[in-house]
Amino acid sequence: MSLVIADRWFSRKRIDDDITLLWEPHVVPLLRCNIWHIKGRDRDLLIDTGLGVCSLREAAKDLFAKDILAIATHTHYDHIGGFHEFESCAVHRCEAHSLVRPEDATLLSSGFSTDELESMVEAGYVFDRDELILALPHQKFDIASFQIKGAKPKWLLEDGDIIDTGDRHFQVMHLPGHSPGSIGLWEESSGTLFSGDAIYDGPLLDNIPGSNIEDYLNTMEALRKLKVSVVHGGHGQSFGRERFLTLIDSFMTRHGQYA
Ligand SMILES: [Zn+2]
Repeated sequence: MSLVIADRWFSRKRIDDDITLLWEPHVVPLLRCNIWHIKGRDRDLLIDTGLGVCSLREAAKDLFAKDILAIATHTHYDHIGGFHEFESCAVHRCEAHSLVRPEDATLLSSGFSTDELESMVEAGYVFDRDELILALPHQKFDIASFQIKGAKPKWLLEDGDIIDTGDRHFQVMHLPGHSPGSIGLWEESSGTLFSGDAIYDGPLLDNIPGSNIEDYLNTMEALRKLKVSVVHGGHGQSFGRERFLTLIDSFMTRHGQYA
């Protein structure tokens, strides 16, 4: 199938005075990661960077005026493609190696193993065509040879670390299960959680290479204790407390935790 050339690779939406969401509209939902920009007094935060098919730095240079810390919620390739464009990168200690040397990436569903595909279909993702992007970023782009560039982390994160923008404080929460080094950023004062792929409003992946159900169940229990008012996830729409609790409950039920 021949793909059209996209006019613009990234879309964006202003959430409030400080928070902007960027995403890649021409990417299927499975790989369409939410990229969060948080404006701070002294420095900005960038949470995840998308596939790296196009330069994020260039596309959003008006936003990236300040000193910026780019934080990986985890290192699945749909989240880390743009980290090589940023000097200050942070990732959980457990996944530092795969930020430096990313896992194999594919923009074709035929590039996944049968087991991976099965797990993703079972979770609720649909693969109705081979290509996982619906447009090309430019004429010369070659889907088949796509790979992710590595990036060197400056900061290896651990549970409990505080990320300070000057006027906002985010606590790093280690949320393993989806992947070993998944993290969330929790701002208690506003009840805001940036949750990466630990929890989002869409099919959660708990049976892919590197995921662990036991850890995931513990993560869900830890999340439930937070006085969340809004969750900005790694994929899909943001949601409030009620939906948060529903998503946790349905995960627990699916894994036989409730009668
Ligand atoms: Zn992921």
